[in-house]
Amino acid sequence: VRRALAVDVGGTKTAVGVVDAAGRILGKETRPTPLGDPAEAVALIVSMATDLLRGHGPVDAAGAALPGVVDRASGILRSSPSSGWRDIPFGPMLSAALGLPFAVDNDVRACAWAESTLGGGAGLGSFFWMTVSTGVGGALFQGGRVIEGARGLAGELGHLVVEPGGAACGCGRRGCLEAEAAGPAWRRMALAELADGRAGAYLAGLADAELDARRIAAGARSGDEACLRIAERAGLMLARGLEAVYAVLDPEAVFIGGGVGGALDLLGPVIERELSTRVFLASERDILPRPSALGYDAALEGAAALALFPR
Ligand SMILES: [Zn+2]
Repeated sequence: VRRALAVDVGGTKTAVGVVDAAGRILGKETRPTPLGDPAEAVALIVSMATDLLRGHGPVDAAGAALPGVVDRASGILRSSPSSGWRDIPFGPMLSAALGLPFAVDNDVRACAWAESTLGGGAGLGSFFWMTVSTGVGGALFQGGRVIEGARGLAGELGHLVVEPGGAACGCGRRGCLEAEAAGPAWRRMALAELADGRAGAYLAGLADAELDARRIAAGARSGDEACLRIAERAGLMLARGLEAVYAVLDPEAVFIGGGVGGALDLLGPVIERELSTRVFLASERDILPRPSALGYDAALEGAAALALFPR
């Protein structure tokens, strides 16, 4: 495959791109994901793809990264908490509409596959890929493939409880890694700093809609103490999750991507410090997480990798 059509169906936005065999994005369009009738989502993807193929095609194959539990063999999205979709045959629908073979997988697993084929994982025998954005997800690459598990749930680190009795999670439980360290958790911690009167001028000067992980990380970089406390706590929670990863999987490396992963300059040292005391034989292991080489378009690169490097 020399050129692939890549589709990233996210919980909020859908991106379609044409990507070459080296992972270069030749063209890309992004629109809000029409949640609701999946036929609408497919129609939107087909119209974006038709535009892109006119300018950057033709392509040899196509891949789609989907949010949720995916049955790779049948191309069916089994369930997706972010969209409410259940048992949607996205693979066959897209394939029929565009006349292309479509390889589909869960978005995080697609990212791990792209990291191994196009990113920083080349040459590694095993690594754990973690995305930290509006949620937390993970996937293990080992022995030349991304491990799926019995029910396609391997690597789902987001719902590991790292703070018993902690913040309420969308899964109905409390203290999950996702609820304690993803983007919404940074915002919640900032609101708590403001409510307690501990926040400094930086957080107090932000409008409500601006209280997000990216701006909190910027505040931490400028030395704001409340923002530093938030980043420190998020790093501690991520370390608690990764402690389990090292104990069970013994990966050669950990890659972190996603929007909050962009704060790895702040989180990395906290995670390394915590893991150095929590992980067995830590001094002999690579416990400083690495930034994903896939960048902002990780899931689009993931979708492309599904098509470019068939398993
Ligand atoms: Zn949960």
